Amino acid sequence: MATTALVIVDMLVDFVEESGKLYCGPAARVIIPRIQEEARRARGKGEMVIYLCDRHRADDSEFGLFPPHAVEGTRGAEVCGELAPLPGDRVIAKRRFSGFAGTDLDLTLREQGIAGLRLTGVCTNICVLYTAADARMLGYAVDVVADAVASFDDEAHRWALRELAKTLGARMTGGETGGATQ
Ligand code: ZN
Repeated sequence: MATTALVIVDMLVDFVEESGKLYCGPAARVIIPRIQEEARRARGKGEMVIYLCDRHRADDSEFGLFPPHAVEGTRGAEVCGELAPLPGDRVIAKRRFSGFAGTDLDLTLREQGIAGLRLTGVCTNICVLYTAADARMLGYAVDVVADAVASFDDEAHRWALRELAKTLGARMTGGETGGATQ
């Protein structure tokens, strides 16, 4: 049984489409084909594909920090069309940066005997980083597909890749490791 899950973080209309409320820029579009490829490979191997998706309430306290985005019931909160979930995939809504905060992600992984996560999506320095941090604190192995994560802030993206590798012990895979493994 596969013990790794592919995790696709926040590839939502509001983050990855130009008209979105909190568009992350071209870097977020470049990774779409890479994530498609990862998803194809994972499904082909029988690995679980998990979507972690911001789904905020209209008055969410996070909107003190960031402009409103991914509000439940709006199109902006939907996964972008290119990466639409398939039957058998799991979609887990979250209201905080970490996919583990107030969700059943940990329970879902344990039920399935999954011991490792392979992370893709946006933003490298926010939801990817804090999901990875919680995963590591809970004892999961973490791989980061370095050319399938992105941020609106390139400097923060590179810093986060190093932090993921050097502090959290995440294994970097993919074509571009951002110097994280050097
Ligand atoms: Zn959010």
